[in-house]
Amino acid sequence: MRQKLVAGNWKMQGSREMAETLAGGITAGIGEAPPCAVAVCPPYPYLDEVGKLLAASPVELGAQNLAVEDEGAYTGEVAGGMLADFGCHFVIVGHSERRALYGEDDAMVAAKFLAAQRHGLVPILCLGETLEERESGVTENVVGRQLEAVIAAAGVSALGRAVIAYEPVWAIGTGRTASPDQAQEVHAFTRSLIANKDAKIADSVQVLYGGSVKPANAAEIFSMPDVDGGLIGGASLEAESFLAICAACG
Ligand code: PEP
Repeated sequence: MRQKLVAGNWKMQGSREMAETLAGGITAGIGEAPPCAVAVCPPYPYLDEVGKLLAASPVELGAQNLAVEDEGAYTGEVAGGMLADFGCHFVIVGHSERRALYGEDDAMVAAKFLAAQRHGLVPILCLGETLEERESGVTENVVGRQLEAVIAAAGVSALGRAVIAYEPVWAIGTGRTASPDQAQEVHAFTRSLIANKDAKIADSVQVLYGGSVKPANAAEIFSMPDVDGGLIGGASLEAESFLAICAACG
């Protein structure tokens, strides 16, 4: 039985004050034994402060991105070792915004996945198709290609120390959610692709759904057999709605 995970992606939103209030609200409301594992991924400058606020709670800290390289003359980049230094447990890699806006291709995402694991971080590997790709019937080709690139670089066993997030690009920040059946279909496909290489890893890897998850739709999506929780953007920016989504795991 896989434990569910709900992770908040705060993106480049808010302020120091908002980060403190949000982290405080989440830790105050989460309780000592939440119904699922919980994580938040604040912007880099707030990692230290949020990490301290989370320290006595079960909520894990994550980052939204990392450098491929471990150190050196890479102005503006942040290395995995630095994130580990700040107490990060997770790091998001391959978010569709990074792929689309910053030109991160499958090879770079795979390199970031490897960089994360070199530093003991658990990558949350995002996969997902655009609306155009879905409408032309190539969703499985796209998701399969994105996943195979990481497996080719890291080996299937590396997925035993990773989380996958299926995030259809057309559902991110749009208010348009994949139906539970649409999510289940891609999650099952993803798991079957892994099962062809290693059944045990396929059975144990958490596959999260991301894309306009809200308190009102979370329970239905999370009830699907291959959906192991969610990666939450907009609704993670308010403690009340994020906590309600966590509660929907129960
Ligand atoms: C995301 O940014 O990963 C995400 C899923 O955003 P939203 O929940 O706002 O669609």
